[in-house]
Amino acid sequence: MLIIIKLVLKLQLKIFLSFSFLLLNLLALSQNCKSPIGSNIYLSGTFGELRNNHFHTGIDIKTKGKIGEKIFNVKDGFVSRIKISSSGYGKALYIEHNDGTTSVYAHLEKFNEEIEKHIKNLQYKKKTFQIDHYLNNKDFFYNSGDLIAISGNTGSSAGPHLHFEIRDTETQKPINPLSCNIEIKDEIAPVIKKLKVYFLDLDSSTVLNCKKNNNYYIKEKIQTNGKIAFGVNCYDQHNGSRNINGVYSIDLYCDNVKVYRFEANKLDFSKNRYINNHIDYYEKHVNRIKFHKCYVDINNTLENYVDLINRGVINSENKHEIRIEISDYNLNTSVLEFEIENSSNIKLIKKENEFKRKFYYDRANVINENDFQLHMKKKSLYRDIDFDYQVIESENQNRKIYKCHYAYEPLHKEFVISIKANKRNKNLYVAKIDNGKLIYIGNKIRGNYVSAKSKSFGEFCLAVDSINPKIILQNRKNLEIKKKSKISFKIKDNESGIKNYEGKINDKWVLFEYDLKKNKIFHEIDSVYSVPIKLDLTVTDNVGNEEKFSMILP
Ligand SMILES: [Zn+2]
Repeated sequence: MLIIIKLVLKLQLKIFLSFSFLLLNLLALSQNCKSPIGSNIYLSGTFGELRNNHFHTGIDIKTKGKIGEKIFNVKDGFVSRIKISSSGYGKALYIEHNDGTTSVYAHLEKFNEEIEKHIKNLQYKKKTFQIDHYLNNKDFFYNSGDLIAISGNTGSSAGPHLHFEIRDTETQKPINPLSCNIEIKDEIAPVIKKLKVYFLDLDSSTVLNCKKNNNYYIKEKIQTNGKIAFGVNCYDQHNGSRNINGVYSIDLYCDNVKVYRFEANKLDFSKNRYINNHIDYYEKHVNRIKFHKCYVDINNTLENYVDLINRGVINSENKHEIRIEISDYNLNTSVLEFEIENSSNIKLIKKENEFKRKFYYDRANVINENDFQLHMKKKSLYRDIDFDYQVIESENQNRKIYKCHYAYEPLHKEFVISIKANKRNKNLYVAKIDNGKLIYIGNKIRGNYVSAKSKSFGEFCLAVDSINPKIILQNRKNLEIKKKSKISFKIKDNESGIKNYEGKINDKWVLFEYDLKKNKIFHEIDSVYSVPIKLDLTVTDNVGNEEKFSMILP
């Protein structure tokens, strides 16, 4: 009896908890955000948009094409994290709010004065530019509308803008920021450009252009036999800007029954790489066109799919009416309609393995040859593939090239390759060959092998980097040694790339900021010096070649 009462109580508690969780969630979503730029918002990127290896986890807010716009806190809260990196988010600020969400502001030029001071102290204490600092106290509390930063173009940003995110604080999963009543004027329905048809049992596909009357249509008649699936190439535009943005949702209907829906309401960093299975990776890699596939492969656990029937795959045994509806966040919707017909005259194809090796998605896959090894964990692939492995002797460079399948086959996890080195040489590294160029991917020594991790297939080889990095002082002519003036350098390493750098003035470590995309480092003078000063800079590449620069300035 007691057990039953306990169980009932437990159940009631559970229901209560999940109810309050739901309530909290709803509350979180209903809390409005102020504009982080203090005025009307125009977007150069939307949530869930298709990017390289990830869905876009925030919105990109335009900053009039320039650096230096004021950035304001969107909801009352305290700074919970400050991250500075030469790539990725660049300078980023995280503010935790009491409604269970965190707002994130990235690619910043700098923070407001008090945060800037705090982070600089930390950088000098740790002697590093790159920093990832979590704050447990509530020292930096801001009301909504308070100035928190200045907009910029830091990190892997393709131009000045503010990357803005809302995350669920507990899970750090990004939520579509437009759900916080950030208002975007958008009365324009998405554009549907192309339809890709996958004849799954015929091992073929075709790309068709979409035309528009009231709705979108295709001119061609689709006849097939066996299983069939679809993909769409589409985009959205908003009022008042010419930017090409992503769509919010895609629904696929077969004879008025929904068989597939994709929606960009939330994302999950741990699953974000599934984008390479969501899109048609081949089309992206070879033709530079991004298709949303409207069907889901087995090893794709993305949670943005709903209402799936048979993973979006349709059997063509009858005539079917197909309708694809594509919407933006404001629910402006475009519709593509067409019919498919079955033709039993079309012969189904049983595919033969072209290559000797088969790689399975649900197993670990290994190649173990005399001078080459490959180790891949299970669930690294999205499907089983016939793996093309070849050793190619490159005559002109006297180099062995290991061909590991094709760059257009997507991969979920990195794999390890190890290449045997005949001679010990500390300057050896593993390179991926990309359009004839050698790209450094690693140089871990394991016995007689040099090994590295790769997240993409292609051709690999051993290479040697014996050239030191280059250091070029940028502003020698107008250089003044006084507060706020900058000392800048270009630093470059054409082979293995730069691993680290260190700058000193009068033998004391000083902060040099690093902009990877511009190969630029600079120090903003923050102390009073009596001139001349002694400046030292050391730059090291990934295999350990070290270049030193020393000068008395000005
Ligand atoms: Zn962004």
